[in-house]
Amino acid sequence: MVVHGGLLTNVIWANRIPGTDSRCASCSLVPETTCHVLRDCFRARRVWGAAMDSRRSQDSFMAEVKEWFLNNLKHDSSNDSWPIIFGITCWLIWKWRNSSIFDEDFTWPHNPKPNVLSLWREIDSVERTCSLLSPSKQNSSVWVSWRPPPRIIRNSLEG
Ligand SMILES: [Zn+2]
Repeated sequence: MVVHGGLLTNVIWANRIPGTDSRCASCSLVPETTCHVLRDCFRARRVWGAAMDSRRSQDSFMAEVKEWFLNNLKHDSSNDSWPIIFGITCWLIWKWRNSSIFDEDFTWPHNPKPNVLSLWREIDSVERTCSLLSPSKQNSSVWVSWRPPPRIIRNSLEG
């Protein structure tokens, strides 16, 4: 959805409904594009600052939105949990952006890291449980074969 520009930001709404304000709902400084709302806005940057560990390079944060998104969703190694954390963080930023618009009692979390880690632990736990419950689905082969029907049936079909 993000890669294909399907996130309903204010820029998208302004293109659909003339007269609609296209500026960012958080800072009101620039048009609210996908890249701005998920990465470049000060609100998003605070969340990313809390979600990223010090080993992760911020170089990818200079890329175009599609490249940024796809690069961060790639698994570097089997133990790398970053793509999941990246997805969770994007989702939380969008959720909190929407809450700030539609829920007048909402306030952006002061320290978003526990929110990100809590969701990551939940997803990780579900993945581990699923792999324990059905380990045979991973790396298993199923041989399929076909046997011709018995001769009697074949003869009756041939007339
Ligand atoms: Zn903004």
